[in-house]
Amino acid sequence: MSSVRIDDLPIRDELRGKSPYGAPQLDVPVQLNTNENPYPLPEPLVERIAERVREAARGLNRYPDRDAVELRTELARYLTRTGGYPLTLANVWAANGSNEVLQQLLQTFGGPGRSAIGFEPSYSMHALISRGTGTGWISGPRREDFTIDVAAAERAIAEHRPDVVFITSPNNPTGTAVEAETVLALYEAAQAAKPSLVVVDEAYVEFSHQPSLLPLLEGRPNLVVSRTMSKAFGAAGLRLGYLAADPAVVDAVQLVRLPYHLSAVTQATALAALEHTDTLLGYVDQLKKERDRLVSELRAMGYEVTDSDANFVQFGRFDDSHSAWQQILDRGVLVRDNGVPGWLRVTAGTPAENDAFLDAVRALMTERSKKEQSA
Ligand SMILES: *Cc1c(COP(=O)(O)O)cnc(C)c1O
Repeated sequence: MSSVRIDDLPIRDELRGKSPYGAPQLDVPVQLNTNENPYPLPEPLVERIAERVREAARGLNRYPDRDAVELRTELARYLTRTGGYPLTLANVWAANGSNEVLQQLLQTFGGPGRSAIGFEPSYSMHALISRGTGTGWISGPRREDFTIDVAAAERAIAEHRPDVVFITSPNNPTGTAVEAETVLALYEAAQAAKPSLVVVDEAYVEFSHQPSLLPLLEGRPNLVVSRTMSKAFGAAGLRLGYLAADPAVVDAVQLVRLPYHLSAVTQATALAALEHTDTLLGYVDQLKKERDRLVSELRAMGYEVTDSDANFVQFGRFDDSHSAWQQILDRGVLVRDNGVPGWLRVTAGTPAENDAFLDAVRALMTERSKKEQSA
């Protein structure tokens, strides 16, 4: 065993004393903490993946298609069909999860001496990937109800003049969708201040009541929409994320991407999954219904719940959210403490998983009211 600690190593100063991204991966019966789709891939798709991967295996002595042309073509077709805006291969770029897409964007448009802003609480990886790429991080404001206060956000952009602006819609961990007018206002503010790149993270858009923001790409070369197959597509283990933008943005990220970053096995698997898009997205409606059930049952119990457009629900409020998290875990249900004071987040699972969660939080509420009565 080594007694050397990370901080004893000659690491970059800005990494000293920091912790890695860490949703706990605990082995409990009901895991509702990372916004995964609870349904395994259907068997015909598993067969198709095996077929496609077998074919790809025969060519593994060669490097993969560096430009992932077939995959990007199919992703563009999917976005065109569902996003209300026509896109082609030239508009789309793919990488190992949308996290890698975001990293490539920050390597290209951020970096040392530059900065990025997000409106928090939001997806913690935006700040972490900024740090990892040497990009300064600015924590922008949100209202009490977790919507973006446009005037306050415009002021923050004008003051800090960030190079990259992150807008997550629907937002994680709050579930809040962002209206097109808000994105347009922040885009204008960001162009007036710098100009800078505006990244709309649509990881959960398939679960939203609101249509995709893809049509906003028209005439806005500094706007990017990022997507993932990790949530609605139920393929978090695949690691496939992608972006849609002006072809110039796609050309720009190629300046930093590692050559052959997307393996032939990944490309083959993603292509097989896209052949089964309708089956995969078939679970989305069911998950939306379960999400709405979580919202209404939690409210009926007396919890506060943020309106959700995603496959998860933010609920509270707790005087001590960490101890509430632990009490729910003690009943065999893992939810997420995102560090938003007073609030926890639960992912919509199968009906049985959601029932187990609802039983756990009902017991918590009963204990709480007993305590209040005896106090
Ligand atoms: C889950 C999530 C992602 C997905 O990341 P992948 O790397 O594609 O798995 C991206 N953005 C947000 C806001 C998320 O919550």
